[in-house]
Amino acid sequence: MKEIKRIAIFTSGGDAPGMNAAVSAVTRSALASDIEIFGIYHGYQGMIDNDFKKLSFDDVSDIIQDGGTILKTARCMDFMTSEGRLTAYKNLQKNKIDGVIVIGGDGSFKGATVFSQEFDIPFIGIPGTIDNDISGTDYTIGYDTALNTVVDAIDKIKDTANSHGRLFFIEAMGNEAGLLTLESGIASGAEVILIPEILNQEDELDNFIKKRIKNKDSSGIVVVAEGDEMGGAVKIANKVQKDYPHIEARVSILGYIQRGGNPSGKDRLEATRMGVAAFKCLLAGKRNIMIGLKKHDIVEVPFSNTAKAFRPINSELIEIQKILNSY
Ligand code: ATP
Repeated sequence: MKEIKRIAIFTSGGDAPGMNAAVSAVTRSALASDIEIFGIYHGYQGMIDNDFKKLSFDDVSDIIQDGGTILKTARCMDFMTSEGRLTAYKNLQKNKIDGVIVIGGDGSFKGATVFSQEFDIPFIGIPGTIDNDISGTDYTIGYDTALNTVVDAIDKIKDTANSHGRLFFIEAMGNEAGLLTLESGIASGAEVILIPEILNQEDELDNFIKKRIKNKDSSGIVVVAEGDEMGGAVKIANKVQKDYPHIEARVSILGYIQRGGNPSGKDRLEATRMGVAAFKCLLAGKRNIMIGLKKHDIVEVPFSNTAKAFRPINSELIEIQKILNSY
């Protein structure tokens, strides 16, 4: 095993609140062990463009509360090619990097896996995505902040829904995963929650409208996951408006506000724990693993087990939703 003297860190894929806390934790862990650390800017693209900068204690001071990522992030098509990865390797060598920590989603870990099959540089991953859709971990950095952002947005939309007697269809992010929609829907008291993991929810929606949206004062909140089988919020709202002309249907797509904002206390804490654990793993000679959380404990998950997968949703949450909205 090669001695680790100098490491690099970068963020990749979509940004997520809490990434900065992880960058700070890794950097401070390295400096505390007299290991030099470089930030690679703009994800894998920066590795190819030789966009490396040595990080100091001051560089990561006062960033724990900031959303986004100070290292910037990107999706990089060039890294998908063997020429791109060779250039990236040469730059890692040029900068004398002995190990790398990548904060991102399962795509970023796939990139690291492919790279490690070609070149002998260890990678350790930290899961950072608001979707919380990575296998092998109960938690990904950014999820908790996004949950709070969605709940806050729904609370505000409820004020106008109630004042005008409108039925709102609110679309939350999550790709094919409905967890953010389900948990934010329960936490904000939404009447209907439409997620891809539950099929055939049309009757549930119809039932709610028939029983509860009877007159001009009736209001309601339907939260829709962007990947729901019935289509996004716009499609569903249009259909409902056509089927029930007496109601006032409105749509709100929450969009990118869900990715921003100051990280919650939980995101900062878990990102910090994962950052310290990732550095320890690299120093211990481990490679090709992602740091995860299982039942609140830090775990090490091989990259091969981190692929985005259909994760069954906790049946307790589904039952809760049914109980709360059985009219
Ligand atoms: P998010 O969950 O926010 O989408 P992600 O890490 O899954 O984050 P991706 O765009 O899937 O985001 O992957 C990030 C980058 O990882 C890609 O832009 C690409 O540079 C690299 N990457 C992904 N898959 C591969 C692959 N099979 N081979 C090489 N590089 C890859």
